[in-house]
Amino acid sequence: MTLPNKCSHNTQRIQCNVPPSYLFSIHSNEEFMVAVSCEEHKMLIDKKIRSLQEKNLLPKGKIQVQDIKIVTTNCIKPTEVDYQDVFYNRSPNL
Ligand SMILES: [Zn+2]
Repeated sequence: MTLPNKCSHNTQRIQCNVPPSYLFSIHSNEEFMVAVSCEEHKMLIDKKIRSLQEKNLLPKGKIQVQDIKIVTTNCIKPTEVDYQDVFYNRSPNL
């Protein structure tokens, strides 16, 4: 699995191009990578994930934030559903 090379924050027209510092994943029975974020958008990404969980667009579970520099991606399983796609394309605008 490869990590995205830019922050997942996007508004209707603007995609943040800053290289991400944090990896957001959800822990339920398994661990799912959901999004990455730069320093500036950390709180917004967190808020967006919570709102998607409330709408049942993302799995319920504990949100874990990891520093990308120390992430060991091999402990995160590939997903049948692409949750990053959910995050980008099916999420409500904030
Ligand atoms: Zn950003």
